[in-house]
Amino acid sequence: MEKSEYGRWSHAASDWSAQYLDNVEALPVRAQTTPGEIANQIPESPPESSESMDAIMDDFQRIVPPGMTHWQHPRFFAYFQSNAAPAAMIAEQLAGSMAAQCMLWQTSPAATEIEVRMVDWLRQAVGLNDTFQGVLQDTASSATLCAILTMREKALDWQGNQKGLSQLPTVRVYASTRTHSSIDKAMWVAGLGQDNLVKIETDSDYSMNLDALANAIQTDRQNGLLPAGVVACVGGTSMGATDNVRRVCEIAQAEGLYTHVDAAWAGSAMICPEFRDLWDGADLADSIVLNPHKWLGASMECSAHFVKDPETLVKTLAIQPEYLKTYGRDGIINFSEWSVQLGRRFRALKVWFLLRAYGLDGLRTMIRNHVSWSEALCERLAAENDFQITTQPILSLFTFRYQPHQNLDELDALNKKLVDAINDDGRIYLTQTMHDGMLVIRFVCGQFDMTRNDIDIAYDVITGVARSMDSA
Ligand SMILES: *Cc1c(COP(=O)(O)O)cnc(C)c1O
Repeated sequence: MEKSEYGRWSHAASDWSAQYLDNVEALPVRAQTTPGEIANQIPESPPESSESMDAIMDDFQRIVPPGMTHWQHPRFFAYFQSNAAPAAMIAEQLAGSMAAQCMLWQTSPAATEIEVRMVDWLRQAVGLNDTFQGVLQDTASSATLCAILTMREKALDWQGNQKGLSQLPTVRVYASTRTHSSIDKAMWVAGLGQDNLVKIETDSDYSMNLDALANAIQTDRQNGLLPAGVVACVGGTSMGATDNVRRVCEIAQAEGLYTHVDAAWAGSAMICPEFRDLWDGADLADSIVLNPHKWLGASMECSAHFVKDPETLVKTLAIQPEYLKTYGRDGIINFSEWSVQLGRRFRALKVWFLLRAYGLDGLRTMIRNHVSWSEALCERLAAENDFQITTQPILSLFTFRYQPHQNLDELDALNKKLVDAINDDGRIYLTQTMHDGMLVIRFVCGQFDMTRNDIDIAYDVITGVARSMDSA
């Protein structure tokens, strides 16, 4: 393909995208393909000679959409949404055409300076005080890895990177039993090991038991281990488990430990002041992550990582070989020193477009609607005798079970069957989770374009499919 053809094909691609978005609602939400069905349509080896864009686009249209789960579908109620708002999609296209590589200020000054501004816009939007600065990481998993590495290095007086861990004290990190698996993975990748992530039991409200946290830290010290940090959870993935961030930070800080808050999903809702009680005390934390690529619509990948003291993060992650040194420019930010990867995309552009195109008020209205619609569905299901609400809504997430009889041994299998039947039906998409030893169904609403009517359809599909199942 010649550069001269770019305009034509880029128009064709936008036309296709616009049509896709207009019609996505008519498609089954979860991909209805079987494993291997798509791969079998792709040649096993790359072409030796060039092919026409006509042929490539034809194959795209024929092969790809039927093999996709449609995250832009208004009735995507599974996992957490990963919205791509129209304005963010446009910004991605523009950033792509400049092939922006944003590792150093010098390699993309506009990207760096807009990133500084956008992180600060996001900070103000969620009501954090101005002691925080930050960076846009690719994902919450990366931000959490950076935080765990910072905990490790700070506790080890910055010897880990240099010496390796084998001769150094055993570093310990604390988090509740309900935190996300990305914390576990960060422990693996940071070389600290699963066994040194101390999982603290939770109370009846699913928050970390604070006495157990304090005790675990003391016991570790007595045993010659090295407590380094605590990860608090706000709006956990399974059912929205939320720690008492203020008390967790107070306990950690009295012990000199670094604190990281994982608010990957729920953090977006903090643009609405009335929801900020959920992370009361967040201003005390050393590090906070939230994902504008989830609820807010910034599109994959865009994770806002706020840190109170960038020095500790940069001291952990900055490598400055000769060819990366940017001479004579003090005070500039090189964001590759704030993250694991060197090369970085221009993520700030889509945040800029997004926040301007919808305004905080527009985004707040969307989130408030989602929360109230989810509560309304929860109430309707609670009123049905054969449905049980297993956890109350945390923002727009709640869990429930179909319970047409009291034969408890069979309810897990029945609910798994119900999730599969609903997803095969295709009008809505839900996932299950384990909660207190039961298989329960998660409902979370948050797709960018959904309406109240989509909630009514969800109610009809959930109750209709459940009651039409053979409840054996
Ligand atoms: C989604 C989520 C994550 C992981 O986010 P990625 O950006 O996909 O790495 C971590 N923690 C919580 C609470 C989440 O909801």
